[in-house]
Amino acid sequence: MTEVASANHLSRISRLDLVIGKLHQLIPDMLEFSFETCTEGTLAEKCKLVIDWRPVIVTCRDCNNRSEIIDSIFICPLCGSFRLNTESGKELFIKSITGE
Ligand SMILES: [Zn+2]
Repeated sequence: MTEVASANHLSRISRLDLVIGKLHQLIPDMLEFSFETCTEGTLAEKCKLVIDWRPVIVTCRDCNNRSEIIDSIFICPLCGSFRLNTESGKELFIKSITGE
């Protein structure tokens, strides 16, 4: 992140937008706390962290039903099958970095 800042001649990073799939099971409070700790004394100190949480969406291989997984229970709500394909929820990337 600091490499991006220096490559773009930024003296400070003010906002970081992340996309995180819920499949990673990260706890928002824990994430913010470790982010604060990691950025202390860097260009990103006091930077605003904005997270776009993506739901876990699966498609059933038996009945083709598409549903959202809540509470990590990987069962098709329509037919009870465990044979699911994960379509979204695995995302983990930086959407944008804002600085000045
Ligand atoms: Zn199903």
